[in-house]
Order: sequence, then C-alpha cells, then structure tokens
Amino acid sequence: MFDNNSLQENVKGQIMNRESYASAASAARSGQILDHCTDCGRCLQECGFLRRYGSPLQLAGRFMEQLGTARLAYQCSLCGLCTAVCPLELDPCGMLLEQRVMVSARGQGRWFRHLPLRWYEGCGSSALFSWYGLPEGCTTVFFPGCSLAGSLPERVVDIFQQLGSRIPSLGLVLDCCHKLSHDLGEEQAARAHCHQMLAELAARGVERLLVNCPSCLGLLSAEDAGLSIGTVYEEFAADPGWPEQRCHQGLVTVHDPCSVRTAVPLQRSVRTLLARLGLQIEEMEHHGATTLCCGEGGGVGLINRELALEWAQRRHQEAAGRRIVTYCAGCTSFLSPLGPVSHLIELLFAPAPVLEGEVSRQGPSRTYLNRLALKRRLKLLFEDGVQGRRGPGGRLCWSRSR
Ligand code: SF4
Ligand code: SF4
Repeated sequence: MFDNNSLQENVKGQIMNRESYASAASAARSGQILDHCTDCGRCLQECGFLRRYGSPLQLAGRFMEQLGTARLAYQCSLCGLCTAVCPLELDPCGMLLEQRVMVSARGQGRWFRHLPLRWYEGCGSSALFSWYGLPEGCTTVFFPGCSLAGSLPERVVDIFQQLGSRIPSLGLVLDCCHKLSHDLGEEQAARAHCHQMLAELAARGVERLLVNCPSCLGLLSAEDAGLSIGTVYEEFAADPGWPEQRCHQGLVTVHDPCSVRTAVPLQRSVRTLLARLGLQIEEMEHHGATTLCCGEGGGVGLINRELALEWAQRRHQEAAGRRIVTYCAGCTSFLSPLGPVSHLIELLFAPAPVLEGEVSRQGPSRTYLNRLALKRRLKLLFEDGVQGRRGPGGRLCWSRSR
C-alpha cells in the first residue's frame, strides 16, 4: 500500500535541505499543499494535467525548489476543478496561479506564444477600442467585455436595447477586464486595472455594473470599489415575462464556464431562461460546481494544444451529441469545432436559426473589425452625458458629450 506520509516527508525533506526554500517562502499556497495534502488522488482522477505532471503534493515540492518549473504552471488551465473536488478543501488551482505569479515576478513569464493574448487584451484597453458612455443620471452600466463584442456584435446591441427598455439612463463601457494577463501571472496589475475602472465609474455616480462574460464577472466582483456587479442573465431572469418566444422544442445541455463554478444564482438564472424558451435541459455529469474546463482556460492551448483539446473532447463526450448551451463567448468558440454549441445570448435573441443550425462562426481577425464597428454604432446611441476612453498609460480621459 502507498504510504502518503512518507511521500510528504520525503518531498519536504528534499526541500528543507535547499537554500531556495527560504526564497520561496512567499509561496503560501504551495506550503499549504505541502503541509496538508494527503496525496489521495481525487483531483488526479479529474485532471489530465495532474495525471501527466504529478500530484499537487509532488508539484508543490517542485515549485518550492524552483527547478525547471517555469513552463509547467502554464499548462494548467486554472479551471479550479481540483480545488472543487478536494475533500480537504485545499487549493491546488490557487497554487498553480501562485506559481504563474512567481514565474512572472522573476521575469520568466513572457512567452512568445502568449503574444496573441497580450495583443488582444492590449487592443481591448486601447484608445481605439475602448469607450465609456454615461448618460445624465446614469447609475447602471452594461459591460459587454471583449469576446461577445467581437463574436456576436449584433447581440450586444440587442442586450443593450433590452436592458435599456428596463433601466433608465443605462450606460455602456467597452473595455477589457484584463483577465488574460491576470491568468498569465500579472495578478496585481490586472486587479489594479479593474479597481481603477470601477472606482472611476463609482466617482461618476455609477452604482451597478451588468456583465455578460463570466471571466469579467469573476475579476470585477473581486474588487471592492463601491459598485455592485451583476449579470445580464440574472437581470433578464428576474422578469418572468421575458423572453416572450416560448414555443421552441429541443433538448440541450448546459456547459457552466469554470470561472463561475460557484456562482449558483447565475447558473440557476441561465436554466430559468432556457426553460422559458421551452427547451428541455439534460445535465451532464460535470456541471455547476464540478463543471469542466472547455480547454481555453489559462491560455493553455498556446503552450500545450493537446492538453487543451483533451478538455474540449471530454466536454463533448459528456454532451453525447446534445446541443451544448453555454454563456461564455470563449467557451462557445473553443467548443464549437467539435460539435453543436450555442451561446445562450444567441438562443435568447434568435432561437430559431440557432436551433436549426444556421449560425456560422467568425474568424479571429474579423472579431477586431466587429468590435470597432460596434463601438461606432453604439456611440451614436448616446446624445448627452459624459464620455471616456483610455489615454496614454491606460489613463481614463473624460469629456462631456454635448
Ligand atoms: S486548475 Fe484545472 S487544469 Fe489546473 S490542476 Fe486543477 S483541475 Fe487541473
Ligand atoms: S484532492 Fe486534495 S488532498 Fe487529494 S491529492 Fe488533491 S489536493 Fe491532495
């Protein structure tokens, strides 16, 4: 029988003999795993990355030694499934993010392969792509995020108009939450970016931000800047008379994005809206708190494509041919090549063509053009109030419209 205590002592003993342990003492989450993980194997059952590279206890030992691990943490998708299933409530996912932060702090986290992500995020927060529109008396703002604006710009307009019919003086912010650089290890800079954005909105009277992107939700809700953060799905689900089109037949299954695996009210709202359309929902084995990564998480696909695709294949195996409905534009685009997948927003605003399979996906370059065209179109809807955009150094520059 395998002796867990011996492995733990063995790993610890090797580290204690190394001078590098002292310099790695800030690795609190690795230390927690090292002290408490029993190597029970529960998280390994769920994760191909751990099965390939070692249990959290073994990884903690390697991280503490800082030997040849710079690339390792970038192959974990930061999905949090290991943390969700750990019977001891340990946080291996947090340890892997911590490693990215440490690698980044040592100046070793700038991978050439991550350039597309950095470019994408840089554009989102540039003067060219960003825009803030706050009409007179605005207390609620819609924040569509980059992905939906690029992939389904028409639907962003639909959401804005639908919300605008219920919320007077609705504002709009086109900007990036910086989830990508957060996950690449620049956690503090990403959080500072979010905090600045929220604080500037709060200073102009905004009390509530409505997002549609699960990644934006996770990052923005972590900041305490005096605003409440909600989702468009919860807002829509609170109206029992919407959506009006209720007669669509069909069987679907729901992929909860891993970044919102603990957001139970959001998950319920999504199912409420699908049921109101008349669709029947069959749950997959992994949903809600134990949902799977779609494969896109943590930018793994740029470092280890095979591992990323394993997640997507596993998701489709569980779906077993049923149409997957999700509420993340990133999950939609990553899962779509392997089977029928729809974004919930597509279904809510145009159910018939989606269920008949008439929706085509757009290439990545097209998404940039879409975002620019969307910005131009949405700006025309604002006649008065305050406008803002990103200036040099990411500073927000404000002006009065009329
Ligand atoms: S966060 Fe996800 S990919 Fe990373 S180790 Fe945990 S389960 Fe595996
Ligand atoms: S599930 Fe928890 S205790 Fe078990 S191996 Fe994973 S981290 Fe360790």
